[in-house]
Amino acid sequence: MIIAIDGPAAAGKGTLARRLARHFNLAQLETGLLYRACGLKVTRSGGDPRDVEAAEKAAKDLDPGDLDSPDLRSDEAAIAASAVATIPEVRNALLDFQRAFAERPPGGAKGAVLDGRDIGATVCPGADVKLFVTASVEVRAERRLKELLERGLEAIYSRVLHDMKKRDAQDTERAVSPLEPVKDAFVLDTSDLDAGAAFAAALEYIEQQSLSG
Ligand code: C5P
Repeated sequence: MIIAIDGPAAAGKGTLARRLARHFNLAQLETGLLYRACGLKVTRSGGDPRDVEAAEKAAKDLDPGDLDSPDLRSDEAAIAASAVATIPEVRNALLDFQRAFAERPPGGAKGAVLDGRDIGATVCPGADVKLFVTASVEVRAERRLKELLERGLEAIYSRVLHDMKKRDAQDTERAVSPLEPVKDAFVLDTSDLDAGAAFAAALEYIEQQSLSG
């Protein structure tokens, strides 16, 4: 069983992916971490994340150990990720890792949940379930602000909202694999839903789908 979850930043994809993976006993891959690790690798070595050669090399050299760093959760990593993610060579280099994870999930799991921006469209077009999780940009900025403050970081709403809009624009307007719901995705707007209600709605959809399929 493959569950593909796509959507913009801070829409609740990660939490939903974790809950679904636990519920169905599936392996989980947060694919944004691959782009974050690649972007950070370039900036930390003094490079520009828009430099095709440097970014492609970083993507090819990535190893699973690079995905454990707590620095990957920083805004620096998010911005660098969104920049390397516009480069087709980077997306190609990361594709094999993602597909291999879905086809042969680690730990003997009988399937996987992958979340990102292009899972339903490109990484796993044959996924059994495709969800597109979204929320208004204001709600997503509020959530991100809360998360940053809880981590003891300094942040103000206007700045977080500005960065979120910038990243949305970069992700939806890029030429290769732009963020948009695929036709066969179930669109779940979490603007007025907490994590529990979003999980319940996704589960109801999956159960209905498996009854009808
Ligand atoms: O999901 P997360 O916010 O960690 O992703 C960071 C960035 O990586 C996104 O803004 C997007 O540009 C890129 N990304 C992508 N395709 C994916 C996952 C992430 O382009 N499948």
